[in-house]
Amino acid sequence: MNKGYVYLIGAGPGDVRLLTVKGQQCLEKADVVLYDRLVNPLMLEMTKPDAELVYCGKLPDRHLLRQEAINDLLVKYALEGKEVVRLKGGDPSVYGRVGEEAAALEEAGVGYEIVPGITAGIGAATYAGVPVTHRDHGASFAIVTGHDKSPSGQPIIDWKGLATGIDTIAFYMGVKNLPYICEQLIEHGRDPNTPVLLVQWGTVGKQKTLSGNLASISELVRKENFSNPAITLVGEVAKLRTKQSWFERQPLFGKHILFGRTTEGGSDIARELTKLGADVFQYPRFVTKDQQDVTVHFETYDQIIFHSPKSVHWFFDQLKKKRIDIRSLSACFYGASKKSIKAIESYACIGMSVGEMVEEKKRLVIGSSHWEVREKKRVELYSNHDFCVSHRDEIVEQSNFTCQRVLDENRVDTIVFPSAEAVKVVTEHIAHCHETPDSLSSRANIICFGPETYKAASELGYKVDSTLQEPTKEELLNVLQHFK
Ligand code: SAH
Repeated sequence: MNKGYVYLIGAGPGDVRLLTVKGQQCLEKADVVLYDRLVNPLMLEMTKPDAELVYCGKLPDRHLLRQEAINDLLVKYALEGKEVVRLKGGDPSVYGRVGEEAAALEEAGVGYEIVPGITAGIGAATYAGVPVTHRDHGASFAIVTGHDKSPSGQPIIDWKGLATGIDTIAFYMGVKNLPYICEQLIEHGRDPNTPVLLVQWGTVGKQKTLSGNLASISELVRKENFSNPAITLVGEVAKLRTKQSWFERQPLFGKHILFGRTTEGGSDIARELTKLGADVFQYPRFVTKDQQDVTVHFETYDQIIFHSPKSVHWFFDQLKKKRIDIRSLSACFYGASKKSIKAIESYACIGMSVGEMVEEKKRLVIGSSHWEVREKKRVELYSNHDFCVSHRDEIVEQSNFTCQRVLDENRVDTIVFPSAEAVKVVTEHIAHCHETPDSLSSRANIICFGPETYKAASELGYKVDSTLQEPTKEELLNVLQHFK
């Protein structure tokens, strides 16, 4: 049997787009993913639909035991011949215990690679608008733990060296010990007026910052109830922070949107929202499976209607597989959308819009199984037609698991339903996470695209906050900003 392989990957500080290209490639292929508490759950949506996901959130009082168990699991899965990803927040070699995991794999003779990631000290700082070095304000940079294995949990460090020799210091896991840290730095010669910046949940919509100086920050943290995960940046560079960073200034910063999805590809508008700074979770996730063994005689139809570009590609693939010459077909081709028409034309055939269909001829409609169900309800539209299923969109159950973590972390404040179908699909599946239209309406603003979607949502019991007349990115953006 093939021996498996392990990738020890840094997921970056939070924003899913900060994963490296290599990290993403490994994640997409992995059979098993062991991930940490600080990994953004949305990253799990990049895995194969049947990948096994193992949560390795550490319990504060059981560090050592858990780590050994994780090492054993990595070896076990690899010896079963699996491709394993160990996904850690930030960079795996910065307080990530990657050294221990690598040693365990080494000892077991398992092949592995370490894929670096962006560490929180740098990622959170830059998203808060602060460069960790600057020609005028900081020539050296140190990463320091604010918590260690000493009996008190207070870090044992060369405080004098740190206080007087390093310009910018990033303390990890340091919020609890902040009073001690500030005290030590001041006692060992650092100016009490040195700027300090705390960045909590850096690089995601929940990002929050707190500014002060060595003398004042502990009290501010206490007052604001600021907690981990946060980076404490000490040094002159911290004063470069403006009122809002480039990240926090994005129009949709701080919005956590669950965007109803009904197909594998998802929505272009949802992707645009991400670009505008929102945290967007397209839910649920679908995987498309091509229909095999179809016995339709395409040659016998006069009109063929395609529901999506995917059905167009599937159709031409079928012709090729079955060695049917396109010239033996006499049908005219119609697309249900501009994209479908474009796909038809990419095969050097004329594609027309369904609106151009005049007389009733022998018709074949090709679309996904999901459309077939819908078509049956709307027979009056194409009264005399046969339906051929080109592919099936199946829901990936794993996305309920991602959804549960997103909800647990309170990362949904807006739900967008782009269609009545999306209302139905989301409601059905989110029930696995013990949510109802009522509970969702009270935790989030509900936005519907168009009156039909509004009707479907209201009937199911949602309290709809806004209905877009025009389902465009601009109108959605307007409404979302209005909810601020
Ligand atoms: N390997 C990680 C660090 C793990 S230790 C890395 O390279 O970033 C965990 C600590 O990292 C947290 O207590 C916090 O101090 C910091 N941290 C991780 N993610 C963070 C984030 N998104 N924002 C701020 N601090 C973060």
